[in-house]
Amino acid sequence: MSTTEKGTLSINTENIFPIIKKFLYSDQEIFLRELVSNAVDATSKLTQLANQGEFSQDIGDTKITVSINEALKTITISDRGIGMTGDEVKKYINQIAFSGATEFIEKFKDADAHKQIIGHFGLGFYSAFMVAKKVEIYTLSYKEGAEAIRWECDGSTEFEITPHVKQERGTEVVIHLMDDCLEFLEKNKIDTMLKKYCKFLPVEIEFNGKVINNPKPLWTKPPIDLKDEDYTQFYKELYPFAEEPLFWIHLNVDYPFNLTGVLYFPRMKKDFSTSQEKIQLYSRQVFITDEVKDIVPEFLTLLRGVIDSPDIPLNVSRSYLQADSNVKKIHTYITKKVGDKLVELSNKNREEFEKKWKDIGLFVKYGMVTDEKFQEKLKDSLLIEDVNEKFYTLKEAQESFGTNQLDKDGNFVILYTNDSEKQHSYIQNAIKQGFTVIKMDSPIDNHFMNHFEMKLEKINWKRVDADILEKLIPKNEERHSVLSTSEEEKIKELFKKVINNNSVTIHLEGMSPEFFPAVITLPEFFRRMKDMSLMMDRSGSKNMPDMFDLSINTNHSVISKILKTETEEEQINIVSQVYDLALLSQNMLLGEKLTAFMERSIKII
Ligand code: ADP
Repeated sequence: MSTTEKGTLSINTENIFPIIKKFLYSDQEIFLRELVSNAVDATSKLTQLANQGEFSQDIGDTKITVSINEALKTITISDRGIGMTGDEVKKYINQIAFSGATEFIEKFKDADAHKQIIGHFGLGFYSAFMVAKKVEIYTLSYKEGAEAIRWECDGSTEFEITPHVKQERGTEVVIHLMDDCLEFLEKNKIDTMLKKYCKFLPVEIEFNGKVINNPKPLWTKPPIDLKDEDYTQFYKELYPFAEEPLFWIHLNVDYPFNLTGVLYFPRMKKDFSTSQEKIQLYSRQVFITDEVKDIVPEFLTLLRGVIDSPDIPLNVSRSYLQADSNVKKIHTYITKKVGDKLVELSNKNREEFEKKWKDIGLFVKYGMVTDEKFQEKLKDSLLIEDVNEKFYTLKEAQESFGTNQLDKDGNFVILYTNDSEKQHSYIQNAIKQGFTVIKMDSPIDNHFMNHFEMKLEKINWKRVDADILEKLIPKNEERHSVLSTSEEEKIKELFKKVINNNSVTIHLEGMSPEFFPAVITLPEFFRRMKDMSLMMDRSGSKNMPDMFDLSINTNHSVISKILKTETEEEQINIVSQVYDLALLSQNMLLGEKLTAFMERSIKII
């Protein structure tokens, strides 16, 4: 080409540039990702041509460089890829890239749709105009006899192509920044952007004299070549401040969709707090987003690592994405892989699995309540831990607890505590009578037990202080009370008088004489409702009345003693003491009542 050529980008709507400029102001930075990705593509194409024997010259150093010129207010991205001829610039930049950008903008300029596009992928070359008032391209094609050309566009629909002198094969894109985008002249800013979007691009990228990327990240290598250290090292690379991961899964599938990656199990935080370290989504090593909740099942977002798939449609809205068949398959695939890994761990090295359970348990339970297939897969690996830190699968628990924990209808009753300090006396009593008490104290456990009872018949979870043991695991055998009916009536009267509160229900039970004279129990169903409402909204739960049951142990010697006591005043004294002790063991003795109890106790001493 020997002369300057001017032309007009064919346009059928109004000027797209103002729209591009405004387009996602907050995501302006993706222009750099788009341009560097183009440079990478051009370089990869050249390497490919060389491999196929279609380019026989020396490829030379293919490093891509990004540079800033503060005086000229420009950013330059320069590659040594295939370059473009004049005709190719006209075709690829003026026509194809332009119409691509137009279509993209047309699709997303309305409504809030643009906010939903995952990572805003696909705007391509013209995304440069989000920050540029003028863009120049200097390019020399790899083709023999090609002449270098310069292309320029100032953000209107006019462009200009002129011949140029350029010795080196490849393309240089020069962005002249708009006055309100001069923050992109800051080295730190560009450095951060490159490290965010280009950290794992497959061609070396140099900025400020340093290569900023790792062109061959771990997930692109065959698992067989990798050692444990490589995985932990890569984890550090992804999340420099995180603790070591527990274990990992290398994902690698190419049919019916292409997906690679590594998922790590982190140490879980007890409170589900969202952390900075999230799963990162890549498409052919280009960072797209770390908001992956539409791409992986929600419970898996607790994991860390990298997913790389060119088969996830990236410039579509969320609702479309969720319905996409590839995304559904990816869901299923990842869930299966994660499930398989956990089952394998539990079968292969039970001891390790138990050690890790503290961290994995929360995740497994969360997965089981949200994903049917995952539940099915994990149900034999699920562990429960008793208060003595012994672990059981559900099957082992059933075998080990034996008929002792079967009620008269054949239900397997799992006694649990969510606070072994507060429920100490109840736990000790249960253990004394030969029962096993399980710890269920993670934030998801309430939900988990509810869910599990609905799914698995014949297993009931009951908190150890929900009722007296005889009622928690009802048996057919009759418990005998040493008191006569009239004596029981008398006792009931006395307690009623002392308690003087309608929301307390009094029961008389012939329990073990070893147990306490009276206990307070909070019915399982009622308490769970209260816990649930507490989880959902703190104020509402206050409105629920504090109802509870008081079970009096008619076989206890103290109760018989009450009947033998002469004056009613003395009787009331003992009853008050018994009742207060019951309150005390549930942490319910407060205020005036506590003071009265202390005074009475001192008198007794
Ligand atoms: P996409 O990369 O999705 O095809 P772009 O708008 O980014 O869309 O680019 C359009 C086309 O312009 C590319 O397909 C490529 O042919 C050409 N192109 C862009 N940048 C370069 C470059 N640095 N070197 C060679 N060709 C390029």
